[in-house]
Amino acid sequence: MTPPFAYPSLPHVRRHGPRGYADYASFRPWLRDEFAFRCVYCLRREQWGLVRGTFAIDHFLHAAVHPTLATDYDNLVYACATCNTAKADRELPDPAEVLLRDDVRVAEDGTIEGDTPEARRLIRVLGLDDPEYTEFRLLWIGIVALAARHDPELFARLMGFPTDLPDLGALKPPDGNTRPDGVASCHFERRARGELPETY
Ligand SMILES: [Zn+2]
Repeated sequence: MTPPFAYPSLPHVRRHGPRGYADYASFRPWLRDEFAFRCVYCLRREQWGLVRGTFAIDHFLHAAVHPTLATDYDNLVYACATCNTAKADRELPDPAEVLLRDDVRVAEDGTIEGDTPEARRLIRVLGLDDPEYTEFRLLWIGIVALAARHDPELFARLMGFPTDLPDLGALKPPDGNTRPDGVASCHFERRARGELPETY
């Protein structure tokens, strides 16, 4: 079983490149798919409870400081509202480069530790090692373990993909897509081909 707080093993390479949306919110389906329906910073998953506002679109480089990047796809990441608020307008190491499995350790008691200066800085600035986040991880580690043992259906819901996977092939970004090949590997297409694992 993949632990609920296992960061990706490799730096994230963008698979999608939609361009030309006037409103950054229009990038949401692409970003959900790109970052596998979870917060790039704390790994909270959509499947753990999704009500309006739970997830935000984070401007990695803040739009107020870098207005030309406000609707630049490569500057947008999928983040939970809590991490997005904690980050605010700070410039930080790129989570897709820095929060990696070998460099960030989440223990069974929910504590988190970074092994590189960049990971440690990101953890500190976002407060990922605050008692509240530690408790959040501890709770979900426990819930997921309990479901794994006693409720396989609930386990599959908590650790599986959402049912409403975005059909990226049906979307037409105004200025096209710089990485059109990525659409064939989006979760929607993979599910249609029967390639999507039950949990991840
Ligand atoms: Zn988060």
